Amino acid sequence: MTKKINRSGVKVLTISIIFVSFLFQSCTSIKFLDYNDVKNHISKNPKIHFLDVGNGDATIIDIGDKEIIIDGGLNPETLINYLRKTGIIQNPIELMVLTHGDGDHYTGLKKLVENSNYSIIEFWEPGYDKQCECQNFITLITSIFITGYHDFISLLESKKEMKLVRPLELTHPPSTITNEIKQIPKQISPVPEVDITVLHSSRKPESARSSCFCLGSHKCAYLINNSSIVLKIEISGFSFLFTGDINGKLKEDSPDELPIDVEKKLLDNPKIKKALNVDVLKVSHHGSETASTTSFLEAVSPRIAVISASKNILYSLPKETVVKRLENNKAKVYRTDYFRNIQTEDKRLNGHIICEITGNDSLKIYYKNERQRSNLLNEFSNNEK
Ligand SMILES: [Zn+2]
Repeated sequence: MTKKINRSGVKVLTISIIFVSFLFQSCTSIKFLDYNDVKNHISKNPKIHFLDVGNGDATIIDIGDKEIIIDGGLNPETLINYLRKTGIIQNPIELMVLTHGDGDHYTGLKKLVENSNYSIIEFWEPGYDKQCECQNFITLITSIFITGYHDFISLLESKKEMKLVRPLELTHPPSTITNEIKQIPKQISPVPEVDITVLHSSRKPESARSSCFCLGSHKCAYLINNSSIVLKIEISGFSFLFTGDINGKLKEDSPDELPIDVEKKLLDNPKIKKALNVDVLKVSHHGSETASTTSFLEAVSPRIAVISASKNILYSLPKETVVKRLENNKAKVYRTDYFRNIQTEDKRLNGHIICEITGNDSLKIYYKNERQRSNLLNEFSNNEK
């Protein structure tokens, strides 16, 4: 009798456990509904996800069954978690681009490369020359990050199944990329559905800072930001400019145009200057005052500007003067560090900015963070150009 009671007790307990775990699983899926929403609700149209990665950059370009990832942010988990939750990656990843070798751009990518669940067909990076490091006190400190970058490159080189490319090698014969525009021919592009143009990339970036005190040879300067790959990407009639962390001037009170900073270099070439004109600008260097000079913004003339940044103890980005410069240039500014929700009266929220290119020739801008479903913020029509 006692045995019988115990058996039925066990049965009841088992059924209860199954029921509770079912409920728990349901709750778990409810938790992720927001992210499914990002994947499904906004349909299968091409989407560009500017992730909220704090002070860093991470962008996913999703064109149905093909994806391009540009930079990966400083936190190793943010990008991979976003990919897991949204499920937007259909293995393999066609193209991964590291604009330059700073930790706030490569760390999230490294996590993906190390993860055997993801396979990557092609990886682009500028090939920043280690010998470029100017040996002074500041660079000895920054070399901590640069060393990490070169370790990452060694990891990439060990991945024999992946094609590792420096944009300087993309065309034949190899030449100095900044002298002319390098449109990647569709037959060699890993994503022929979009037009990719390389406007800049450098292994030995020059910099206005080369006058600094150096202990050794400093023919090429230490400013790794100026090695950044600058890409123009065109998808279904809309164009996007990715600028990495290129500089346009030395510091806040420097004159707008310095002779050897990258923005000036791009503007000096008439073909490149013309190509700079785009719909959406991914603002350089997290909205730092050393980039986005007035003359550069006039040439780019973006309708939409996206800034990936956050305020922390070390940095206070973006600079309000840069936001003003963009707005004065008639750009609508969207920031991953700031969004004011009028309905909930949340005055400062950070979140992801998602652009969707719709079938009727318009570009929709969404905002979403951990707490909220994606919110439609604005819609831009191609006919209004
Ligand atoms: Zn950066």
